[in-house]
Amino acid sequence: MATAELTAWTAPCTLLSRREVGPDAIIMELALPEPMTDVAPGVFAMLSPADGSGPEIPRPFSLYDLPAPDRATFLVQIMGRGTQALAAVPPGQEVLCTMPLGNGFTLPAPERPVVIVAGGVGCAPFLHYLRLRLQQGAGARTHMIYGAREASRLYDYQAFAALDGIDLRAATDDGSLGFHGNVIAALDAGLANGTLPRDADFLACGPAGLLHGFADYARKQNLQAWLSLETYMGCGFGVCNACPVATEPEGPLGAWPWARTCCEGPVFPLTSIQF
Ligand SMILES: Cc1cc2nc3c(=O)[nH]c(=O)nc-3n(C[C@H](O)[C@H](O)[C@H](O)COP(=O)(O)OP(=O)(O)OC[C@H]3O[C@@H](n4cnc5c(N)ncnc54)[C@H](O)[C@@H]3O)c2cc1C
Repeated sequence: MATAELTAWTAPCTLLSRREVGPDAIIMELALPEPMTDVAPGVFAMLSPADGSGPEIPRPFSLYDLPAPDRATFLVQIMGRGTQALAAVPPGQEVLCTMPLGNGFTLPAPERPVVIVAGGVGCAPFLHYLRLRLQQGAGARTHMIYGAREASRLYDYQAFAALDGIDLRAATDDGSLGFHGNVIAALDAGLANGTLPRDADFLACGPAGLLHGFADYARKQNLQAWLSLETYMGCGFGVCNACPVATEPEGPLGAWPWARTCCEGPVFPLTSIQF
């Protein structure tokens, strides 16, 4: 995974729009102070209300989409104080934004298949990724299993379904849409019946339980896998050291026992971390 080449900036950004995409999630669209092109999918931003109404420490969110070079969207699941404060910002007011942060995903060659495993807001790093795969002409070799407890928590599912040429599969715990079961069971079923390729890059993002289940499964199945971690973090740019993940001594980051999710991540090859 390459480190994002763009230099991060911090600026108050006007909230252009805000729309609900499920019982507890919104998409926020921000006006950027400068156009962003060539940004790696999977990078993130630290966001907080510019008027100081949120907690002192901003919160990290994956860049969701770039509807125009000078506009960015973020998919935000409302959890606690930080996300409640962001959700309360009215359009026209400003959100303080530092981005782009983190390494993001590197796209493989177009002929290399990709299988994405995402749960809930863990879909966020992948919309931009999928658009880039389509630009590569690699839609037919790009598969995504998007899972949640129930269909209403497949946030902004229509945006993914609208990407013509991608193999998108829903999985819900209650069977309300797509595969009846979790994303790991859906992945296992797809590999077993040959509708998913084994010789592929496997990328995952989602809640800790999903990522641990995926990591165990990928190790057992010897899959070439990457995880985008959602570790708690403070600064987002490597100063506070609040987001360490233990490295695998024999892996590519093994020269030091810890990596910072914000700088060396949030995307890690599975072989590089103890997770
Ligand atoms: C690189 C990165 C990218 C992220 N991208 C997105 C995104 O695109 N969309 C999105 O909705 N969220 C994303 N997150 C998670 C998001 O940052 C947290 O949900 C947010 O910080 C919660 O803040 P809060 O103040 O609302 O909740 P808090 O008050 O801090 O916590 C509320 C509850 O959520 C739990 N919680 C909070 N943060 C985390 C976490 N990181 N891992 C596990 N449990 C947590 C707490 O234990 C508590 O139970 C990302 C996190 C990282 C590190």
